[in-house]
Amino acid sequence: MYQRRRAKLRDALLREGVSGALLADPANILYLCGFSGEGVLAFGEELVLATDPRYGEQAEDEARDCRVVVTRERFLDGLRDALKDGFWGGKAGFEETLPYSSYLRLCEAFPEVEWVSVEGIEGIRMVKDEDEIRLIREAAQIGDRVFEEVISLIRPGVSEREVAAELVYRLHMAGEGPAFDPIVAFGPRSSMPHARPSRRRLREGEVVLLDFGALLRGYASDMTRTFWFGEPEEEFVEVYGITLEAQRAALEAARPGMGVVELDGVARKVVEDAGYGESFKHGLGHGVGLRVHEPPKVSPKGEGELEAGMVFTVEPGIYLPGRWGVRIEDLLVLRPHGVEVLTAAPKSERFSRGPREARNFLRL
Ligand code: ZN
Ligand code: ZN
Repeated sequence: MYQRRRAKLRDALLREGVSGALLADPANILYLCGFSGEGVLAFGEELVLATDPRYGEQAEDEARDCRVVVTRERFLDGLRDALKDGFWGGKAGFEETLPYSSYLRLCEAFPEVEWVSVEGIEGIRMVKDEDEIRLIREAAQIGDRVFEEVISLIRPGVSEREVAAELVYRLHMAGEGPAFDPIVAFGPRSSMPHARPSRRRLREGEVVLLDFGALLRGYASDMTRTFWFGEPEEEFVEVYGITLEAQRAALEAARPGMGVVELDGVARKVVEDAGYGESFKHGLGHGVGLRVHEPPKVSPKGEGELEAGMVFTVEPGIYLPGRWGVRIEDLLVLRPHGVEVLTAAPKSERFSRGPREARNFLRL
């Protein structure tokens, strides 16, 4: 499995004219050798992982098919001492996300090397293998269960922050915690796609929007559900229906070989035709894996085509400032003939009070 992943990296590097690279992004390091602590990875003819004594035992335990160097010096200094001369050749790559201060240190540690920024290394993680898909599916199932638990706690008087705390607690109990800080937004706050939970308390007759994900062995899930607590406004029911229809259209249309812009367009057209185009303020979706936002970007600004094995979200949203917003987000894996949806939590535009009714949550 790691050999396959490393071959993908090698291909990506060769396209940039280098054969080796220094990797510092923890997601890339985990992906390439299984180590989940702090360190840097030298990728060349052999793989060398430099870490410090706090992670020595963990590195021996987790890192696969690579030499582990435990150093009390800075990682790069320890690495320099461990690598044989000429390891990098004359030219090597680093991730475009590397901080400038680290870049300077890299040049200082290996002055003989011409260091070049390599774009899109994280793109090697776009197509998932079945081991990864299994973990993401399980993370999505944890999300579904936590959603069912938490909606039964939603009642007038509860604050956004209390609901967010419940989500975080339950995600820890069921998995390995939240994949990101949950978004919990009531009433007019739901029109802000990335609202941070506040002390605001829920009143009867308001929108509730929950966006959260679980973490499992480094892999994330991501889902959003929106509903009206009580008897919904007419326009909300209509907008909810349009959002759901946009999502359904995209889920049905998605195929390998389709452009990411094209798929975004399928959902966007439904929203535009209904007259809410201006209110769909973000891309349709994003890749999910070791990071909750990673390639592909399924949006008008995205590039490239979909491939089988990609895991990404489909999350159309319509936001009416000062009133409310609707977003419905499912996670899926693209298969040769269509999508396997990983999110199973029910979707409904309304929900009324109390734990008992929660069990009667309308299943669509
Ligand atoms: Zn989300
Ligand atoms: Zn998302």
